[in-house]
Amino acid sequence: MTRPIQAIVHPSALVNNLLVARQAAPISKILAVIKANAYGHGLLRVAKALEESDGFAVLSLDEAVRLREAGFAQPILLLEGVFAEAELAVVTEHQLSLVVHNQAQIEWLKHAWSPVRIDVFLKLNTGMNRLGFAPQDLPQALADLRSCPVLGRITLMTHFATADEAPGVNEQLALFQTLHQPLALPSSLANSAALLRYPETHADWVRPGIMLYGSSPFSDRSAAELGLEPAMSLVSAVIAVQHVKVGGRVGYGGVFSADRDMRVGVVACGYADGYPRHAATGTPILVEGVRTRTLGRVSMDMLMVDLTALPQAGIGSPVTLWGGELSVDEVARAAGTISYELLCARAERVPLSEA
Ligand SMILES: *Cc1c(COP(=O)(O)O)cnc(C)c1O
Repeated sequence: MTRPIQAIVHPSALVNNLLVARQAAPISKILAVIKANAYGHGLLRVAKALEESDGFAVLSLDEAVRLREAGFAQPILLLEGVFAEAELAVVTEHQLSLVVHNQAQIEWLKHAWSPVRIDVFLKLNTGMNRLGFAPQDLPQALADLRSCPVLGRITLMTHFATADEAPGVNEQLALFQTLHQPLALPSSLANSAALLRYPETHADWVRPGIMLYGSSPFSDRSAAELGLEPAMSLVSAVIAVQHVKVGGRVGYGGVFSADRDMRVGVVACGYADGYPRHAATGTPILVEGVRTRTLGRVSMDMLMVDLTALPQAGIGSPVTLWGGELSVDEVARAAGTISYELLCARAERVPLSEA
């Protein structure tokens, strides 16, 4: 028998979540963000499930080329543009769209030539101070871009730092609008949080990521409340059971000690599978569909669970680490992180299959 852990992707959830995005932003086109191997869900499988989206956004040239080679004909945006001039040949060959966020990228474009035009998302830094041109550099960047022989359409773009929490988007949005207003250009601003909470950010293209995978971008609203369905279930099974006497300790460091006689299940999942080591005692977990808690420290290949209230559970009992009735957001919170990190951290050794 093989080790029982696996990640199961639910295409119907992806389809549902895309619909939620459509209903929330009915007049915008949707650029489905499928970077980082579709947040760990598998690039091509997710692209297939989301083929009704109006375009895809990825990080690397490699991801974009894999999409084209699999036959996806929608616009594909490289979210950080190219990292070297030589990549532009691949960009034109596969008709990819580019974020342009710095002057070096513009210089490379000036030298490029191709019969096909490259569509560009010109990125403005409106306050996040990560990528993008400063407001005062916008006129020059636009003039430079327009002098590039390969240039196709220009879309103006920015990214919010706090769409999911206070103080929200107002300041960045106001600055963007001031810069955008005199220019008759399409625009794109919203990530999942802005898409769901700030309709005034929707514009021509929205860029949902995390919501498509069924996770909430907010700490104060659950995915279920937003109508989102988890697209991934991380499942495994109990591989051993221990009877621990009151006062007995569980796992490395013995940080959990039994406050009464307990049945402890050992689950084939550890931090080498991508489960967070920082998930402390009490992290929710499902055994045979019943909610219980983890005990002690997570090991590399195993973790322990409380089976005291589950007398029927034993070796072979199915375990859900997240997915279904247990949101990855809850597990992330218990580990002091966000769902994005857990989904992306699924290890190579955890096989991915489709429901
Ligand atoms: C990752 C990313 C998104 C998607 O963000 P979510 O919070 O996952 O919706 C949107 N835009 C840009 C530029 C990104 O890098």
